[in-house]
Amino acid sequence: MIATIMESSQVTTWPPLYTVEKSRRTKRVRLNIHPQTGLTIHLPYHTRRPVDIDALLIEKKAWILKHSALLEQAAQKDNVNLPTSLSLSAIDETWQIDHMQNCAKPTLFAAAGSRLVIMDKDLNIERAFRLLHLWLKRKAAQHLTPWLRELSLRHQLPFNNVAIRNQKTRWGSCSSSKNIQLNYKILFLPKALAEHILLHELSHLQHLNHSRAFWRLLSALDPHCHEHTKALKTIEAELPAWLY
Ligand SMILES: [Zn+2]
Repeated sequence: MIATIMESSQVTTWPPLYTVEKSRRTKRVRLNIHPQTGLTIHLPYHTRRPVDIDALLIEKKAWILKHSALLEQAAQKDNVNLPTSLSLSAIDETWQIDHMQNCAKPTLFAAAGSRLVIMDKDLNIERAFRLLHLWLKRKAAQHLTPWLRELSLRHQLPFNNVAIRNQKTRWGSCSSSKNIQLNYKILFLPKALAEHILLHELSHLQHLNHSRAFWRLLSALDPHCHEHTKALKTIEAELPAWLY
C-alpha cells in the first residue's frame, strides 16, 4: 500500500494546522504542503534532541505562507473551470475536452482526434467532473489492468483480482487474499512512476508490509526504486486539483 495521511487542513490561519509523520527513511526534518493534506512535517524516527515544532514553524513561516497561498490559488482555479485537456502520461495519451450544448441526458463520449466531448444542456462543472471521473475509471481499467497482468506474468507474482478506484490517499493497495486495487490517478503519472506503483503492489503479494525483504524485492524489479519512491511523495501536488 502506498498511502499518505489524509487530514484536510488548509494553511490559512497562523499558526497553521499540521500533521507530523515520523519515518525511519526520513533523514532530516522536511516540510511539505499538499492541497489535500495541508502541511506535513516529516521527522526522522530517531532524533538526538526533540524537534521544537513551534520554532520550526516560525523559522519556515515565509515559505509556508507563500506555498500555501500558491496552492490555494491553483486549487480554486482548477475547481471552477473545466480543464481544456487531459494529459495521461502513463499511457502516452492526450485528450482535448470540449463541451457541446445538448438537451439530452448529460453524457461524455470519445470522438475522433482524441477529443472528449461532454454533452449537457448547460455546462455544470460538477456533472462534468463526475463524467470525467467515470471515464478515467474505465480508461484505467482498459490500460492498467492488462499492464498489471503483463508485469505479474513476467515476474511470476500472480494476483487474484484487480479493481480500479479513486482512493483519496493511496495509489494502490494489495490484500492478503491477493486482490489489488489501483487508483486511476496513476494515468496522470510519468510511465516509469506508474509502473513503479504496479510493481510496488505486486511486491506486496510476497510481503504484506514494508519490511527490508519487501524493499529488496521491489528494488530487484525496479532498479530506480529509491528515486521513484521519492518522486511519488511530491508529484501529487502537480496533479489537477479536481481529481481529488
Ligand atoms: Zn505498500
